[in-house]
Amino acid sequence: MQINEQVASAVNDQIQKEFASFYLYLSMAAYFEDQGLDGFGHWMRLQADEERVHAMKLYDYLLDRGARVRLQAIEQPPVDFDSVKQVVEEVATHEAKVTASIYAIYELATQHNDFATQDHLDWFVQEQVEEEKSANDLVDKVTLIEKHGGSLFMLDRELAKRQEGAHE
Ligand code: MG
Repeated sequence: MQINEQVASAVNDQIQKEFASFYLYLSMAAYFEDQGLDGFGHWMRLQADEERVHAMKLYDYLLDRGARVRLQAIEQPPVDFDSVKQVVEEVATHEAKVTASIYAIYELATQHNDFATQDHLDWFVQEQVEEEKSANDLVDKVTLIEKHGGSLFMLDRELAKRQEGAHE
């Protein structure tokens, strides 16, 4: 069954958003590493890699459905950020936007009785729960450290332990 054109177009738009997230997080990783916060940089590089994987999952899905993949331009991400806190808050805000975007495609797929796309997006719905949780947890930790005068270095060491594919 051929994929609805509007649904395919929305998935193409989402591929752009995932690659834009990859680019944004990669820029954040560079900002951290430039400041000597290598643990934060490591965490952000893995975060970026996950976005590339998300984009490719949608890319493969469109190809599997016989639809065209139309890669779109990616805006230049910011180079500089105000603080560690600002960056992690921006990640949390960004992930909430991504979730809303996934939900919008899901809704569109539902309107078109596109069960295959809904099924494919189920994975993304669950993934976004994890993405939002890990971003919000990080905001909480940075906030706690700021509030209690703890060392960013301790958190940096903890973040450095993250394994590929893990969200903590
Ligand atoms: Mg993503």
